[in-house]
Amino acid sequence: MNDSRGRMPPAHNEPVASYAQGTAGRAALIKALDEALAHQVEIGPIIGGREIRTGRTLQMRRPDDHARLLGICHLGGGAEAGAAIEAALAARHDWAATPWEERAAVFRRAAELIAGKYRYWLLAATMLGQSKTPHQAEIDAVCESADFLRFNPVFMEGIYADQPLSTQDEWNRLSYRPLEGFVFALSPFNFTSIAANLPTAPAMMGNVVVWKPASTALYSNWLLMKIYEEAGLPPGVINFLPGSGSAISEPIFAHRDFAGLHFTGSTKVFNSLWKLAADNLSSYRAYPRIVGETGGKDFIFLDPSADKKVAITAILRGAYEYQGQKCSAASRLYIPSSFGRDFIDELVAEIGSIPMGRVDNLTNFCGAVIDETAFDGMKPWIDRARHSPEASILAGGVCDKSMGYFIQPTLIGTTNPRYETMETELFGPILTSYVYDDKDMEAAYRLVDGTSPYALTGAIIANDRHAIVKALSAFRGSAGNLYVNDKPTGAVVGRQPFGGARGSGTNDKAGSPLNLLRWVSAQAIKENFNPPEDWRYPFMAP
Ligand code: NAD
Repeated sequence: MNDSRGRMPPAHNEPVASYAQGTAGRAALIKALDEALAHQVEIGPIIGGREIRTGRTLQMRRPDDHARLLGICHLGGGAEAGAAIEAALAARHDWAATPWEERAAVFRRAAELIAGKYRYWLLAATMLGQSKTPHQAEIDAVCESADFLRFNPVFMEGIYADQPLSTQDEWNRLSYRPLEGFVFALSPFNFTSIAANLPTAPAMMGNVVVWKPASTALYSNWLLMKIYEEAGLPPGVINFLPGSGSAISEPIFAHRDFAGLHFTGSTKVFNSLWKLAADNLSSYRAYPRIVGETGGKDFIFLDPSADKKVAITAILRGAYEYQGQKCSAASRLYIPSSFGRDFIDELVAEIGSIPMGRVDNLTNFCGAVIDETAFDGMKPWIDRARHSPEASILAGGVCDKSMGYFIQPTLIGTTNPRYETMETELFGPILTSYVYDDKDMEAAYRLVDGTSPYALTGAIIANDRHAIVKALSAFRGSAGNLYVNDKPTGAVVGRQPFGGARGSGTNDKAGSPLNLLRWVSAQAIKENFNPPEDWRYPFMAP
């Protein structure tokens, strides 16, 4: 037993490798892509430290080349969810009793495995499985995943150090206990790093977890789980359970020991899960913690003073990187009328020059959308805009799923600021623009704030400081993450804690102490060193 008080080594953001021609990283990446394409994997649920084969399988294919099989995954269902809950609860006592430094060490080790030994395999699995370019896979699967696992232990240390006042004869302590039961982590397809964070943040704080990954991100997510095991995570602390969300959720939400939900995904699914928890409330041992980061309808607002080159770069990167499949991706654009037609022509020309195709052709900027359901769901919005009297397709608009699920980066122009694609989250490479009258800036601000039910991210592009101050004030409630002269995407752990309000979630800021605090329940302990020995108070003396 070590009685010294540990101090976490400092955390630094993982440097982003460029993969430019001639770099060693590029050669290693190409080798890893070739290997992943040459060797199909067979994977399955990992419950209580054992990887199982259920015989009910799903083929993992490339979104940008759907004839190409990456492997098969065995799926779990209700029975495996029951087994995962049992394994988690069996691991609970020992894990909760493990000193926080030892828990932290497991995840700090995992961060180094991600950034080192497994960097290129994880990149290849994310690129091929989720159709990300090298840069998008690097900032997500490697850098952000490692950052979560490096910074969260430091935040955890800060939480435990946060203690109430004491006096000479009275010692007050806060004990931050893990929740009583297990946490259910449900991750989306679009960020390997979110899949890294959702189960590990509660686990770090001493909780046990059942984790269901998205069915379109299984390869990279399984590899993360293998990395946690190699880093020394004890069996049962996190249980990896691919399968149908509704089938797995049923036994989870019905269980007395369901203690929390750590969710990132669509608003619709989050709302249905919150209702499920509410319906079962009386059967739970404690009120479950419900944490969800959900959809967005993120904006870029160009002030009349905006630098046009800065604006175009923020628009192209903010709206089209990873095919617009980021919760933070810009999907509505406000252009001042004083910018005129020339600006739109320049923007359209730039969008038209974006290279799109398979992501292992490293010259591409865009890949494919995640699957056929996403592709089929997106196309009708483009088709309707093509024929609407209120909208037109200014750039892109071509959809082709013959080889992969490709949707050209698309710009819709509308004369109706409440046109359907200004309000609804489409989650693809579709940006809608509206030209506002810059003689009435207050009306324009109100439009931005009131157009969608979400409040996730937004960007203001402006050079005039007064305009920046006014816009920051007008958009105070419009976004959980607000950017000035930058794209609205790309939050970095430790620098821009991420999350939105309104219909965008509970705003518990992933990658910050605010999130970790949701996974503990505090117990206040008062000890009296000088306990009174007479129950009577002095004022009672006759
Ligand atoms: P999704 O809601 O379809 O799926 C999220 C997870 O829930 C997946 O694991 C899925 O299998 C599971 N699921 C789906 N239906 C379920 C059901 N009925 N019961 C239980 N589980 C179910 O989301 P997605 O398509 O994977 O991701 C895209 C969405 O995620 C977008 O709306 C995007 O804005 C949002 N997102 C938000 C953030 C954020 O931080 N706010 C980050 C990334 C993605």
